[in-house]
Amino acid sequence: MAITPTFSARPRVLVVGGGYVGLYTAFNLQKKIAKSGGIVTLIDPLPYMTYQPFLPEVAGGNIEARHAVVSYRKHLKQTEVIQGSVTSIDHENRTAVVAPADGGENFELPYHDVVVAAGAITRTFPIKGLAESGIGLKTIEEAIALRNQVLSLIEKASTETDPAKRARALTFVVVGGGFAGIETIAELEDMARAAVKLNARVDQSELRFVLVEAMGRIMPEVTEAQALWVVEHLRSRGVEVLLNTSLDNAEESNLKLINLPDKSLAQQFDADTLIWTAGVMANPMVRSTDFPIEPRGRVSVNVNLQVTGEFGVIENAWAAGDVAAVPDVTGGLPDGTCVPNAQHALRQAKRLAKNLWASRFNKPLKGYKHKNLGAVAGFGQWKGVAKIMGIQLKGAPAWLAHRGYHGLAMPTVERKIRVLSDWFVTMIAGRDLAQLENLQAPRATFVSAATPKPKPAAAAPVAAPVAEAAPVAAPAAEIKEDAAAK
Ligand SMILES: Cc1cc2nc3c(=O)[nH]c(=O)nc-3n(C[C@H](O)[C@H](O)[C@H](O)COP(=O)(O)OP(=O)(O)OC[C@H]3O[C@@H](n4cnc5c(N)ncnc54)[C@H](O)[C@@H]3O)c2cc1C
Repeated sequence: MAITPTFSARPRVLVVGGGYVGLYTAFNLQKKIAKSGGIVTLIDPLPYMTYQPFLPEVAGGNIEARHAVVSYRKHLKQTEVIQGSVTSIDHENRTAVVAPADGGENFELPYHDVVVAAGAITRTFPIKGLAESGIGLKTIEEAIALRNQVLSLIEKASTETDPAKRARALTFVVVGGGFAGIETIAELEDMARAAVKLNARVDQSELRFVLVEAMGRIMPEVTEAQALWVVEHLRSRGVEVLLNTSLDNAEESNLKLINLPDKSLAQQFDADTLIWTAGVMANPMVRSTDFPIEPRGRVSVNVNLQVTGEFGVIENAWAAGDVAAVPDVTGGLPDGTCVPNAQHALRQAKRLAKNLWASRFNKPLKGYKHKNLGAVAGFGQWKGVAKIMGIQLKGAPAWLAHRGYHGLAMPTVERKIRVLSDWFVTMIAGRDLAQLENLQAPRATFVSAATPKPKPAAAAPVAAPVAEAAPVAAPAAEIKEDAAAK
């Protein structure tokens, strides 16, 4: 008999997406809503929230991958968790369509309130070969794959005799000079150099790191002087920083870079590793809803984080984080909305939960207001840059500020402890340089062992003359005795 999963019949607060916004909204509402007879339901294709600022450190082997994610089941005990994707929302009829993660049949879920928190996805451009040759850094799986790939390629190059193939394996390219791109190339460079130190068949001079940025500067979140310092810092570590440069073609891992704006050829070379961190865009799933979408593809909301259309507030609909155009009363982007970052997402979630609860009792709602505190970035052990409330830091103080901020910002005490212990162990024992192989085909060795081998064909008896016979290996017992005698 087929079992049909049953979902709660209570009035539902449906949270679409379990990132910063989804996790904190559900966490702050679950008890109150449950006590009042309702239920918070969180839907996400993954069973965990990913702390994205740690992805470069996971890729670089400083933080164990599982420690950078937060399990919903463990931390949202009063929330109904469904692993799947919301494919559309019909707010007029208060229903959402869910595609289960296991590929089962889509189903409809009714709700009373909806919180759209589906975040952003990697933004790409139609560059030939990018989809086949590139990898992003938005998920924990990508960070794990990247780390294993870099370490595996160093190992592979160490036994490669063809100079062209060796160079291709040891060339690592990052496109995008924002925080994510800079942190990623810095962490990978640090890790790769540590790995090469342990491998006598590869020379440090063979490693090639290239950062490609289309604009004339990197890291818009810090001052121009700090950005220049970061460029100099990366160059001093041997990273080629190419500004005003764009990726034009990546077919068969042959990268063609062009100068901007005249589009003349800058460089062309082969690289087995192409990492794309050139921006994000609001999750396009919101286009399958009946909510108003602004020109940048985000859901329009007011300062109270209520979805707002041409005719005013749309009742019982809320949105925040990277997927929403939240007005920033302190400045923000040129269009007056908040910069898409974790700092805002986390605080918006807390405000949204309070406002949603207040709306149940017709109490006044409070507008979201947060002045950006600045930015911190880590570039490997004791290296970093930061701008915190106008104070500019670089080197070790910035790196410590980065660790301090993110150590505290990591959700849940349990996860904080795991990350802090990873950092502590790394300080003593160095980066973890063990790559895991065969993650794509984990059953291969078992299948090989369990598959009956064809019987060797019986050799035709040959009568070799006794005098010319080859020397025969000594019986095992004899060998052991021989060894013992030595
Ligand atoms: C590499 C990297 C480094 C970063 N570093 C920093 C930093 O140092 N400081 C900082 O402030 N910010 C940083 N950010 C940005 C920050 O992580 C985001 O701004 C923040 O995660 C946004 O939170 P969110 O809840 O809106 O979206 P997300 O955290 O992206 O969560 C969205 C969730 O929605 C889920 N989802 C997607 N589609 C669906 C669907 N159809 N149905 C249901 N669920 C869905 C996703 O699985 C995900 O769990 C970084 C981002 C990256 C990628």
